[in-house]
Amino acid sequence: MKKGNRLVFSILLALSALLTGWVYQPSYASPLPPEQTGTEKALQSLAAMQPIDAHVHVFKTDPAFQAMLERLHLKLLNILVMDDTLPYRKQLEPQVKDALALVSASHGHVAFCTTFDPYKFDDKAFAAEAIQQIDQNFAQGAIAVKIWKNIGMEIKTPDGKFLMPDDPKFEPIYKDIAKHNKTLMSHVAEPDVAWGPPDPSDPSWSYYQENPQWFLYNKPGFPSKKEILQARDHILAGNPGLRMVGVHLGSMEKDLDNIAAHLERYPNFAVDTAARMEYLMITPPEKVRAFLIKYQDRVLYGTDLDLIATADMQESLKEWKAAYIRDWKFLATDETFVSEGRTVHGLKLPDQVLHKIFRTNALHWIPGL
Ligand SMILES: [Zn+2]
Repeated sequence: MKKGNRLVFSILLALSALLTGWVYQPSYASPLPPEQTGTEKALQSLAAMQPIDAHVHVFKTDPAFQAMLERLHLKLLNILVMDDTLPYRKQLEPQVKDALALVSASHGHVAFCTTFDPYKFDDKAFAAEAIQQIDQNFAQGAIAVKIWKNIGMEIKTPDGKFLMPDDPKFEPIYKDIAKHNKTLMSHVAEPDVAWGPPDPSDPSWSYYQENPQWFLYNKPGFPSKKEILQARDHILAGNPGLRMVGVHLGSMEKDLDNIAAHLERYPNFAVDTAARMEYLMITPPEKVRAFLIKYQDRVLYGTDLDLIATADMQESLKEWKAAYIRDWKFLATDETFVSEGRTVHGLKLPDQVLHKIFRTNALHWIPGL
């Protein structure tokens, strides 16, 4: 074999060893370099928790993806979203159909959270039709209902005002969710940085570069973040029997004291960490640690990872795996590591707290998981 060919051959061999190791989990001692065995160990420790990722968006089934779920003993809550700017997310029915197919192909590894079409809020039969559809989805296995930031930041009423989450039109829907003992997943408002000023150091900054329609700086007429969150709080206060998970740290990502105040005030409220772990990583570690220990029953692990129909599977698996490794290192170990250019100090939370965050809080707050 020529020298060049030999090099290519060994690279291929190493790559295939890596990939097989990832997908099939060899039980023999692996010849991986130390940093690989470190990440292996992180994944194994995570898998031992039988973790639940309570916030993902998955749009296809795939054998390699399923193998990852089985290997990590991982359960996912797949969340549907109505978004009129994306062709796939504009329609609810195909999303429900795909979600059901994914659930049934997952051998118990995926559950689904439905939604309703808020763009129809002004139809005469809006609430009745939304409830009928939601109840049908419950009967098909849905265990939660999502509301999204288009309520409060996009959809307007005929008189030109922004439709808010506490609009009376939604009230019968919230009552219906509570009546069925399901959970409302609320993503209302956005990180502070969406209201500006521009801040390239903010963990969400790149999102607004890619999605400028949600960047409200110097765009008059939009409700303030405070107004939107107050409307969310009205739902909590008016529906004490409704469990609500405020996803993305309840959009209070930079203010643990404010999250704590909400958790104290509203016993029916919990938060998930989806796409906001980065904010916890830039908060002083002692503060985050104390918060997570004090509110260990009120925080659900979620990532906001997605798998779109056109995704490259190997790339996606790499990304999912990296996210789980990073979050495990942050919450469970005392390692110091660099993530997205930031130095992060692991919190080394007690085992019992990790078990709640990675698993049992999701079971408690989203029954049916
Ligand atoms: Zn999400």
